[in-house]
Amino acid sequence: MDPDQLMSCGQMMLKFVADYWKTIENRSVLPSIQPGYLRPLLPSHAPEKPEQFSQIINDLESTIMRGVTHWHSPHFYAYFPTGNSYAAVCADILSAGIACIGFSWIASPSCTELEVIVMDWLAQALDLPEFFLSTGNGTASEATLVTLLAARSKIFCQMQKKDPNITLGKLLDQLIVYCSDQAHSSVDKATLIVGCKIRKIVSDDNCVMKAAQLKQAIIEDRAKNLIPFFLVATLGTTATCAFDDIAGLGKVCQDENIWLHIDAAYAGSAFICPEYRYLFDGIEYVDSFSFNPHKWMLVNFDCSAMWVKDRTYFINAFNVDPLYLKHDYQNVAPDYRHWQIPLGRRFRSLKLWFVFRIHGISGIRKYIRKHIELAKLFINYIENDKRFEIVFPSTTLGLVCFCLKNGSNELNEKLLKSLNEDKRIYLVPSMVKGRFILRFAICSYLTEVKHVDYAWTVINEITTKLLTKT
Ligand code: PLP
Repeated sequence: MDPDQLMSCGQMMLKFVADYWKTIENRSVLPSIQPGYLRPLLPSHAPEKPEQFSQIINDLESTIMRGVTHWHSPHFYAYFPTGNSYAAVCADILSAGIACIGFSWIASPSCTELEVIVMDWLAQALDLPEFFLSTGNGTASEATLVTLLAARSKIFCQMQKKDPNITLGKLLDQLIVYCSDQAHSSVDKATLIVGCKIRKIVSDDNCVMKAAQLKQAIIEDRAKNLIPFFLVATLGTTATCAFDDIAGLGKVCQDENIWLHIDAAYAGSAFICPEYRYLFDGIEYVDSFSFNPHKWMLVNFDCSAMWVKDRTYFINAFNVDPLYLKHDYQNVAPDYRHWQIPLGRRFRSLKLWFVFRIHGISGIRKYIRKHIELAKLFINYIENDKRFEIVFPSTTLGLVCFCLKNGSNELNEKLLKSLNEDKRIYLVPSMVKGRFILRFAICSYLTEVKHVDYAWTVINEITTKLLTKT
């Protein structure tokens, strides 16, 4: 803990990152290395004697940076975006510098209190219903897992009232979770951890989960003596950015005593723009809602926000209360340790606080709208080229799914492979309803019209080469 060294080394480190940001566009978006590349470049044992900070900085390019995939390159169109901004990075420095572990209010009051406040700011900015209490979380996957555990705790309490002899073990055999066949794999993982059954509801031709299919599944499962208790609906699916019909699904969940959790990991950020709020029609039925500011709201990983209608079931699900964690204010201030699996909790809310203050809601809206405009520009290119077609069109946010018209899966796979081997741009595919499709997601805060034009030139060139060969 040497403040002078922090100043001098911090300056070196910041300069390195600033230079990286300045030159990121010139780097190949995908690294040219093979698995195991790093081991021969590093000593086989940790250094016995201390080294100079400048030596580490000097080594970075030839070791670590050689193996980086540049997620913030304007040529990165893969997966979904992951946010970043100088505001969030600076906030992270403060969080790392304070380095508190805010598991309870007393463990660091400002850590808990700022989280409550920025979660309220965020809820207001998105126009979420007032019944959502303030809380935060680590990642969207964790939000699904903890809400599933809370829902299990709720159904267990309800069943115990009917039959005091019932055990959780017995009940688990009967519990069944629903999600669409397009839901993120984190739902499968959560049910594996919790140990209950999962049923995937078949989505319609546009990848949307609808109430009628859910209702039918519930009828069939109740006939088998199963107990439906949790539904994950997605707003903005990973593969095609489809939006489940939460108004219809919500009504079914209300009638059937099913906890409705919304995973809006990517698309949630768009709700900061009033023109996209219609996409969460039906939000009044929701028991819990999560999205990732760390995807599309200028906040670096990790920062996932989660709200719940009734916190009781969280406290029930995770309430362990050893003496060393007790404090005098635990009935008046939230202790976030009850909302998560780890005990320790980072001071993540600083990132949101800095981003809100530096960009303002207006700046965040401008950023989201710009990405959506860039996606529309790409759609325009695809639609005006007879070789391609847009597939599974959803409400266009920043993701465009396309493929070669009448092209086989093999041909589309070849196209993607050629594009990624070329390394000028980076895309990932999806397999949706038996079709191999290419996903083009606007990701970087540096992406401008000229980059989308460039990406289109690359796609055009590589497609022409491929089609002349075949
Ligand atoms: N849910 C959806 C719809 C996603 O698209 C993703 C990641 O892309 C996740 C969940 C997982 O998010 P996290 O990495 O925050 O767990």
